[in-house]
Amino acid sequence: MDTNIPIQTAELYCPPLTEVAEVLQAGLRINFASATVTVVDCPDLKQEPFTLTASGLCGSGRVAELGGVAHLVPTPHKDKIYDINKVARVAGMSPGAFVLGAGAGPLHDTGFNCELVTNLLTEGANESYTIKVDAEDPSRYIQEKCRFPECCMMLNIFLSEGKGGKVLEVKAANRTGDKDIIQCMRMSLSARYGEKLMGLGGVLLLEKGKAKIHVMPELSETPLITEEDVENWMKYYEMSAPLVCLGTFVTQETNLDLRVQHFHCFSKHGDGGHFYTDTTPDDAEYLGYFNMGESLIRGDCPPKKRTLERCF
Ligand SMILES: [Zn+2]
Repeated sequence: MDTNIPIQTAELYCPPLTEVAEVLQAGLRINFASATVTVVDCPDLKQEPFTLTASGLCGSGRVAELGGVAHLVPTPHKDKIYDINKVARVAGMSPGAFVLGAGAGPLHDTGFNCELVTNLLTEGANESYTIKVDAEDPSRYIQEKCRFPECCMMLNIFLSEGKGGKVLEVKAANRTGDKDIIQCMRMSLSARYGEKLMGLGGVLLLEKGKAKIHVMPELSETPLITEEDVENWMKYYEMSAPLVCLGTFVTQETNLDLRVQHFHCFSKHGDGGHFYTDTTPDDAEYLGYFNMGESLIRGDCPPKKRTLERCF
């Protein structure tokens, strides 16, 4: 990784958790038949059904974004490699920091382009996953453990000391509105707090139902210029709960061209990839644990804004 990549930082607004819980609950109840958001002691996230590498989401919370979609389209920048251990050090975290999130897999290590679900302790245990399209049958996909603490082109992560403590517990079921659950949470905060930048990260479990997921295939040999180009290249799947989604969201794009939300999922049954929303709103049930970042780290912001607004 280029250790001289430009890094920008910003403070994040952190109102009291109880207040944030009220705002999120009110927003979710517009979009879900039932929704409850409370402040709880974080359960042990190492346990089923989450199986994360740390117990909690507390201590020195940071939201970080490296690179961006402009490094993938219209043409991929495979030289954009990010070492998550180094990112954490730059973010001021001590070794053993808990990092979770979503990015593009380290194709320089794996040899193939893929989705990355980051779930690791820096300089320590790595329970991350990659999900790739099955080259022999693109209607299928393959989830594998990823032992490389790296990614390329883009990465959205939440860093913390992985400690227990107070977090937001989000329960929502039966989606009645059009917004996906993260979008609903994000927009309810931005409506309440305006231009005060907030960033949250954590784990969202889709307990029941199915979800729309994409998995990037091998990099396109031709530039992906239009939405149609991307639609023809990307592989979409409907996958089944339980899905463990890890990622971040922020309340504003700001002049740092922030990705406002990004979650990737994994599962014990081999389903995983980039999470959009449930496809079975009547049956959808979610359980999530989130914490606020105290500061934001923006690394290697692409000089040109991305050309397509869609998700990657
Ligand atoms: Zn993604």
